[in-house]
Amino acid sequence: MYKQLARAAGASWGLQPEIIRTIYTAAVEPTILYAASAWAPAANKLGVQKQLNVVQRGFAQKLCKAYRTVSLNSALLLAGILPLDIRIREAASLYEAKGGGPQPTLGDREIERMASALEAPHPAKLVTLQYDSIADDEEYRNRSEEFAVRIFTDGSKIQGKVGAALSLWDSTTETKALKLTLPSYCTVYQAELLALQKAATEALKRRENTFGIFSDSMAALQTVTNVSAPHPLAVETRDTIRRCKLQNKSVSLFWIKAHTGLEGNERADQLAKEAALKSKKKPDYDLCPISFVKRQIRMRSLDEWNGKYKAGETASGTKLFFPDAISAYGIVRKIDLTYIRTQIFTGHGGFSSYLTRFKCKENSSCACEPGVEETVAHILLECPITERARFETEQELTMSLTATNLPFLMRDKKDRPKFLDYCEKIVSLVISRNKL
Ligand SMILES: [Zn+2]
Repeated sequence: MYKQLARAAGASWGLQPEIIRTIYTAAVEPTILYAASAWAPAANKLGVQKQLNVVQRGFAQKLCKAYRTVSLNSALLLAGILPLDIRIREAASLYEAKGGGPQPTLGDREIERMASALEAPHPAKLVTLQYDSIADDEEYRNRSEEFAVRIFTDGSKIQGKVGAALSLWDSTTETKALKLTLPSYCTVYQAELLALQKAATEALKRRENTFGIFSDSMAALQTVTNVSAPHPLAVETRDTIRRCKLQNKSVSLFWIKAHTGLEGNERADQLAKEAALKSKKKPDYDLCPISFVKRQIRMRSLDEWNGKYKAGETASGTKLFFPDAISAYGIVRKIDLTYIRTQIFTGHGGFSSYLTRFKCKENSSCACEPGVEETVAHILLECPITERARFETEQELTMSLTATNLPFLMRDKKDRPKFLDYCEKIVSLVISRNKL
């Protein structure tokens, strides 16, 4: 796969990096990670690691348009992809977590597992469900007339806290309100699903016969009405509605647009926020979503990678700009890496110091003074030839261009483009100077 790709992409021509990234993440990585959970321990072996490095190095270099001499450490950081051995362990941990294995970062919290096909209801017990949309107050009044009980549900995440609520109405007033809480690692989606599930339970418990359930979460309604969606809360909701039907009760689901001023919806919204912020009671639902586990595993991976990156002897040119792999991971994808920019971030390019190292030039001196080595740091921060442009940029950035400020300039959204413009100008000048 790599050889095919290499023929279609060079450092300065051919396939765009974003296309290569898609091919890498959608085809190459999954191929390598196939059944990784079974052989993950092998990825710690030196021989296996070397093979993985060879594969990944090529792709990483193509992704960031780097010279082939650039180290794997640099190329990975600039390409914004994690080392394969770490990805393999990541895939294995995730597989374990999904199977309910203990997670050191989670303590005794239990992970939300999707219902397996074996637990699915018998086909004869399947109920087909659907939901209708309601656009405004008038439509609501027309459609809701037939229901003895209208139940509005909502979920909310506010200041990192999660809550859900039900508000039950007869034709004019609220008859009952119910607040539910979830721990902060839960998602709004879970809160919305929990509210729907509790609404169905209310319908099952009550004496009335007709129920309309109104939610403003299209995602939750879609999950509940999709008979093959394995989310445990959706499975439970469907089963509850089925039992309602056995008691000759009718339960209808509706989607309403949020914040259209529908009284019941506004009330449920307010209750859900209160539940999130004020409630001190034990959570009504506390299974940890797999997305949370994924994030935790990713953070652990980034930590591991950062240690490797910092300890590595290579990538000194890249560390000048990105001393920390974790913060770099969030930045590099936002920088449109060009052929020139990668030369700046790696030090591998048309600079005398590099050209001499690889025997393309006899003298590593800068044009300003014999004996002063022409490195990226020198031309950007010290060289008298570029002093004027440097001075102007410093004025514009209101910051002096020093080695300690480089990482800061890369992190800052506002200063970064100005600084990169300056770098590109200087470096293009030096590269063409060295071509003569
Ligand atoms: Zn110089």
